[in-house]
Amino acid sequence: MRQDPDIVVVGGGVVGLFCAYHLRRAGRSVAVVERGSLGGPQSCSSGNTGFAGTHGATPLAEPGVVAQGLRWLLNPESPFYVKPRLDLELLRWLWHFRQACNAEDAAAGFRVLVEMKQRSLAILREVCAEGSLASTFTARGMVLAFKTPQAFEKACRAVPQAVAYGVPLRVLAASELEELEPDVEFDVSGALYNEEGAYLHLPDFIHQFARLLEEMGVELHSGTEVVGFEVAERRVERVLTDRGDLCPDEVVIAAGAWSAECARKLRIELELQPAKGYSVTVRRPGNAPRLPLLLSEGKVALTPLGDRLRLGGTLELSGMSIAVSRQRVEGILKTVRAFLPRLEPTETVEVWSGLRPCTPDGLPLLGRAEPYRNLSIASGHGHIGMGLAPFGGKLIAQIIAGEEPDVDPAPFRIGRQGRRRPTTARLPAQRRIPWLAQRH
Ligand SMILES: Cc1cc2nc3c(=O)[nH]c(=O)nc-3n(C[C@H](O)[C@H](O)[C@H](O)COP(=O)(O)OP(=O)(O)OC[C@H]3O[C@@H](n4cnc5c(N)ncnc54)[C@H](O)[C@@H]3O)c2cc1C
Repeated sequence: MRQDPDIVVVGGGVVGLFCAYHLRRAGRSVAVVERGSLGGPQSCSSGNTGFAGTHGATPLAEPGVVAQGLRWLLNPESPFYVKPRLDLELLRWLWHFRQACNAEDAAAGFRVLVEMKQRSLAILREVCAEGSLASTFTARGMVLAFKTPQAFEKACRAVPQAVAYGVPLRVLAASELEELEPDVEFDVSGALYNEEGAYLHLPDFIHQFARLLEEMGVELHSGTEVVGFEVAERRVERVLTDRGDLCPDEVVIAAGAWSAECARKLRIELELQPAKGYSVTVRRPGNAPRLPLLLSEGKVALTPLGDRLRLGGTLELSGMSIAVSRQRVEGILKTVRAFLPRLEPTETVEVWSGLRPCTPDGLPLLGRAEPYRNLSIASGHGHIGMGLAPFGGKLIAQIIAGEEPDVDPAPFRIGRQGRRRPTTARLPAQRRIPWLAQRH
């Protein structure tokens, strides 16, 4: 007879998989339940640009971002958009986002996120040191390019603070930029270099990581959707899926942008908004950058992926739809042309959209979800989930084991902004479905 695992992780994106990895390493039996395929296009972890180094630890909510966002709203090709609608959850999220747009919170968030990214990078180096994962991770630095002198000067002023927190960022002389990227003709005012720039090749990394987890003994149930839960005495007793039930000791919800919907089945409110972004993958032009590159003002990232080049960007608060807006995609391409005017156009291989799970303060949700005694949440990694998930998973494993965590988990507390309906969670009766064959 099939044995129930100690722990069920709901969601097989990068966050769920890293939770499973650390829990398994801690000696627990783990099952990951994923409704799509692992690394499939439904997952935000599959088609993104994969930056995973110490860059990008500034929370989205920072001073000046609201005014900039309002200016962008009027431009259909801009990197930011909020679909106008009367949605109380969105209004509440925007209100808390606006409150977080102050220098003090942004600096505190930066410190917390930098440390998470540093710890995550160390884990990635270890996980990808050898075997089939080695070719899915590149750590050779990254370049940040700035179009206008004002943006470049502002970025240069922030360098000492980043360095003080251990981010190896420095200003590049024009000759150094040319040495790093001899094939690329830039039309920019200046550039910075982060020696700890690193990136994951997606979706290959997810596929290979899932294979490693299987070798470690993690059960991977893809094509299986969690449809509900049964609870008793502040415990989740049963996880109901469309392919049968599981009765674990512990449950982790790591369902990305769908985590709020999933937690709502347990009457837990998570303050999360899906933020849609796009990537365009093209055959790699001869004069493409060799290193990952961020076009700063346009918020567009470029990632070299072997014979392909991925361009990604845009942040749209437009609900759960993943419909592709041609105008936003054109906006990404326009930004690339503005910074790299001679990049030769090539065949498009894929246009993809994904939903980032975003919290208003830019910090992930990681921890126990009260009033339950055996439920944890791992979500809300926003625009930097690839670079936070490796350590976030470790934190979850430490919390579940009741160990002293490596970092203070308070900033990631569930319900820190939102309301949480107190409940003894009574759920609609669910039909019990016999467990069917496991699918991968
Ligand atoms: C254009 C773009 C570029 C980005 N670039 C970067 C970058 O360069 N670096 C970086 O760090 N981050 C980047 N991100 C952000 C990053 O992609 C996300 O933070 C990360 O993928 C979130 O991972 P996740 O595991 O939480 O969610 P997901 O990867 O979406 O995984 C959640 C999974 O849960 C599954 N699921 C949902 N509900 C259920 C259910 N009921 N039952 C079973 N399964 C369920 C879903 O099918 C999904 O596969 C980018 C995002 C976008 C859109």
